[in-house]
Amino acid sequence: MIDTHTHLYSKQFDEDRDLMIARAKEAGVEKVFLPNVDSSTIAGMLQLEKDYPGYCYPMMGLHPTSVKEDFEQELAIVKKHLFERPFVAVGEIGVDLYWDKTYKAQQIEAFLAQAKWAIELNIPIVIHARDSLDVLIDLVRSIKEERLRGIFHCFTGNARQAEEIVDLGFLLGVGGVYTFKNSNLKEEIKGISLEHLVLETDAPYLTPTPFRGKRNESSYVSYVLEHLAENRGLTPNEVDLITTATAKALFLGE
Ligand SMILES: [Zn+2]
Repeated sequence: MIDTHTHLYSKQFDEDRDLMIARAKEAGVEKVFLPNVDSSTIAGMLQLEKDYPGYCYPMMGLHPTSVKEDFEQELAIVKKHLFERPFVAVGEIGVDLYWDKTYKAQQIEAFLAQAKWAIELNIPIVIHARDSLDVLIDLVRSIKEERLRGIFHCFTGNARQAEEIVDLGFLLGVGGVYTFKNSNLKEEIKGISLEHLVLETDAPYLTPTPFRGKRNESSYVSYVLEHLAENRGLTPNEVDLITTATAKALFLGE
């Protein structure tokens, strides 16, 4: 399995990060992809890449909830890193209107700037959308650039939105929400074929059933896999083969 979205550099793992990564390997997680948040998370993320080469892959980007008055300085830092060495993706980037709408215009400006860099570098983008899915679908559609590709991470939208995203050539990141009893996500994406889905945890957040409410970690991606397999009448191995191949093709061109 591949955890396509995990914040393993988070402070919440400071006590047991190495053990947690050992558990992920033990559970069959082959690689993990680390979205950046802002300038404060870069050092920890790059340290993980150093400590776990070929296992932890960093992305580079400015998260929408970190878009504030100083976003131009933050973007300059992202740009400097992106153009001085290779990254597997620009992420995570997007629009978040759940926590704060004050900087909506700046969030959109930051998203478009970073999407442009991804096109220049010919790498995918990883999109964070919260209370803003249609805004982001419209923004991606407006860019009209074939090289623009990536993941709508932690997809929790409806069937119409899922289809629009697939039509744009993007993938849906499926995480813990898929395992929640009170979520209709299984129903909403039942028409989307497995080739358009990748697995993620978004650790330490959005912990799947049966650990909902506790800290999430990458080994728990196996619970998302199990739910997906059960729901689609496939074996976990079949779901693993397809989603792993999709994730590797996107991030590593393999
Ligand atoms: Zn995230």
